[in-house]
Amino acid sequence: MKKRIAVLGSTGSIGCQTLEVIDRFPDQFEVTGLAAGANLDKLARQVAKYRPRVVSIGRSEDIPAFRAMIPGEVALTAGVDGMVEISVAEETDLVVTSVTGTLGLIPTVEAIKAGKDIALANKETLVAAGELVMALVREKGVRILPVDSEHSAIFQCLDGRKREQISKLILTASGGPFVNKSLEELATVTVQDALRHPNWSMGRKITVDSATLMNKGLEVIEAKWLFGVELDNIEVVTHPQSIIHSMVEFVDGSVIAQMGIPDMRIPIQYALTYPERQVNDFPKLDLLAVRELSFRSPRTGDFPSLSLAFAAGRTGGTMPAVMNAANELAVAMFLEGRIGFTDIPVLVEKVMANHTCKPSPNMQQILQSDSWAREEAKRYAGSSILKKV
Ligand code: MG
Repeated sequence: MKKRIAVLGSTGSIGCQTLEVIDRFPDQFEVTGLAAGANLDKLARQVAKYRPRVVSIGRSEDIPAFRAMIPGEVALTAGVDGMVEISVAEETDLVVTSVTGTLGLIPTVEAIKAGKDIALANKETLVAAGELVMALVREKGVRILPVDSEHSAIFQCLDGRKREQISKLILTASGGPFVNKSLEELATVTVQDALRHPNWSMGRKITVDSATLMNKGLEVIEAKWLFGVELDNIEVVTHPQSIIHSMVEFVDGSVIAQMGIPDMRIPIQYALTYPERQVNDFPKLDLLAVRELSFRSPRTGDFPSLSLAFAAGRTGGTMPAVMNAANELAVAMFLEGRIGFTDIPVLVEKVMANHTCKPSPNMQQILQSDSWAREEAKRYAGSSILKKV
């Protein structure tokens, strides 16, 4: 029987690569639902090709125009409610959550409640609501299959091994485009510079997060929830070649690493075919061409976002949701040219400092903290704490 898959965020980088993987195994997968935001031309082409039963777009007012662009029998819906409708649909087995931002939180939670397995590519789900989501995952007995290369790596290293045998998770970071830039140079980098990632081809938000190291910070918090490991037992090492995607150190001192070329289609395929592995035609790792694998400490002094994430993760409660929301807004403002690159962590830290944290929050408290953090970040955007005002 075919695995029936819904893709949230189908026109984004991970969404498109997910469909590319699905294309390679037409007898194994079927697309049952697609959700996207504003890229309606691309979505229309996907709808014509995959013929899902239901499709969701960003705004309900665009439904009539979009209706004219696609075949007649497809059901159309919109917004977060639309994504939820797709996530819980009877005909779906697995939901790929490749939508960026807090927007992905509710559809993911509803999919879990409906007993669907999740191929998790939305970082905010576990960062903002890790405690709540993992409790729900256990209650419903669903699988969370990580798509992010680091978590996929750890997931593969842990395969079949007991949690109590883990002594440490080692997440690798490429260091992003600014790994060799001085603090002085960082103050004047442009949006174009930040979007030029040396190894990975990804969406704009995550590429900027890679440049600030916030991406690694978000991944550390995700790893804590996903694998049940305390933050003190999670280490980040800079590994510029992006060949080792992460490692697990076990109590006996053995370290298992997962390697491969930096190509997101590999972890995506593993999430879709798990627990099987399937032959594909992707380029393979050539260690003699790579020649060297190197490691160094992340420059946490010059890239404060990583430490902010560790701090938010240790505080717990609503703090990671606040950090994430403030960062999302700060990155959006940087992309609009309204603040400088080094202003991003300054803004995030300010918002975190003003937050009164609630322990073990429910979903409503998480969403309230998220909205509060966005308003708070906007308040600071024009203030004198930032260099570029
Ligand atoms: Mg990653």
